[in-house]
Amino acid sequence: MGTLKISLLLDHLISAINFCGWRPFILNERNPYLIQATDGAGQSIALRIYIWNCTHGGGKRAADEYRVQLTKIPAAPKRNEHLIVLGWHDAYQVFVAFDPKRHIAQTGDSPSAQIKERALEESNRNMFAAHVNAKGETIIAMRPAFFMTYVINSSQLHKFGKSADLRLLNEIGEKRGETNADESPEIKDKERREVMRVIKQKVRDADFRDRILTAYKSTCAMCGIQLGLLDAAHIVPVYSPKSTDDTNNGVGLCALHHRAFDNGLVSFDSKYRIEINQANLKILSAHGLDGGYTTFTKNLRKVIYIPADRRDHPHPSHIKLGRILRRCI
Ligand SMILES: [Zn+2]
Repeated sequence: MGTLKISLLLDHLISAINFCGWRPFILNERNPYLIQATDGAGQSIALRIYIWNCTHGGGKRAADEYRVQLTKIPAAPKRNEHLIVLGWHDAYQVFVAFDPKRHIAQTGDSPSAQIKERALEESNRNMFAAHVNAKGETIIAMRPAFFMTYVINSSQLHKFGKSADLRLLNEIGEKRGETNADESPEIKDKERREVMRVIKQKVRDADFRDRILTAYKSTCAMCGIQLGLLDAAHIVPVYSPKSTDDTNNGVGLCALHHRAFDNGLVSFDSKYRIEINQANLKILSAHGLDGGYTTFTKNLRKVIYIPADRRDHPHPSHIKLGRILRRCI
């Protein structure tokens, strides 16, 4: 049936939050889970998450209808908490998020929430998919990479309903963010337009990260470390108008080497040879900040690891511009 123990569902939540670049602190280890999620910039969100397996109900139900059986009725969230009502579909590896407002104190002998298989399939392919079910509820199905974007924008997302805006929202996922759907004059609501703009950027970021982590096999190109510490770094920094989200403008780096790369302490040339920026090192030494230098250089490879597919190799023009902007040449 592809159902997981509830404790394994918590593992999926934790890895989704981590994948999105947030840190989860588990405050309650039973359904509903209470998780404090914190990002690197000091933002912190309290999440009360109800989660169950999303399965086919069997019996006389339509072949393409999947459901979540709510074995506990979601209670209203406490102040400052985000209430999240989820299903996990293990075969598609996607979360299904229901509108919490519709399920708080839901009555009936066997409360459940439904979603069509088409939405599961689309979300697996497109990162996320918004669908409206027969009861008029807007449901968001998503890959784990979209989870924190969903959390932050959930109240707006569940308001979409059946409208032209819903089609434009889904276009952002279908086109991996390479669309002007958020600028369409059809969108009248200013707040909704802003949500769509943010989602477009997040989809592009997550897509870039996905491609880089896959190309570099989740391994730091400079030191070979994995351990879930990999970042997707841009070679030409994103603040430059010449930066792109192409895979050949990215490199997989661990958190330490990403920071050192962005600081211009370490870089690589067009032959992929790793170099320490001596001018930068001199400045650090002058301020008594060169401690740990020997260990730092000992862990560096001589040349960076490059992906198997030539098209994903860092492009020489990006390497050159990135080094100029970080004052490495
Ligand atoms: Zn590294």
